[in-house]
Amino acid sequence: MVDEERGPLSEYRRKRDFRRTSEPRPRFGRRGGRDRFVVQQHDATSMHYDFRLEYDGVLKSWAVPKGPSTDPRQRRLAQRTEDHPVDYLGFEGAIPSGQYGAGPVIVWDTGTYRNISERHGDAVPLGEALEHGHASVWLEGDKLRGGWSLIRMRGGDRESWLLVKRDDEHADRRRNPERTQPESVVSGRTIAEVGDDDES
Ligand code: MN
Repeated sequence: MVDEERGPLSEYRRKRDFRRTSEPRPRFGRRGGRDRFVVQQHDATSMHYDFRLEYDGVLKSWAVPKGPSTDPRQRRLAQRTEDHPVDYLGFEGAIPSGQYGAGPVIVWDTGTYRNISERHGDAVPLGEALEHGHASVWLEGDKLRGGWSLIRMRGGDRESWLLVKRDDEHADRRRNPERTQPESVVSGRTIAEVGDDDES
């Protein structure tokens, strides 16, 4: 039995009224199979991309204002946010006004990933790498492929990290997928189309 007050999804639960929002109710996921990732474009108070990695029964989450870059020279700020339930991987729709994070959400990219974190040339488990504030993952998405590193800059309540493309065969200084490939990989809709649906 997961402790609802202190369990891994307690902050997620506390911020939301599940009678009002269509976001998934907190449910602790089972592990198994390949781990998945999602990047959700979210037009809330300000536009951002939520980068989430399935790990240990939850989605480890960061809000990336400019989205992930395929250019290794671009270091993108990534603010750590609360763990989300694994069911959130497929969430697309409009969070109603008055609710936490109100605004449209699309699945901008999704796929599987594997941990490629290392220290002094040795493989490091992802949980340990995140605790140490330096983790690397290899993404196999529709839009995003190759290695990205997450580097913690500041700890505390509102952790600041950087999300940086690794310099591998998938690095591309000119691609800009957030501009050239704006559509949802599950519905083909743009964030504006999902937002318009909500208002009609
Ligand atoms: Mn968000």
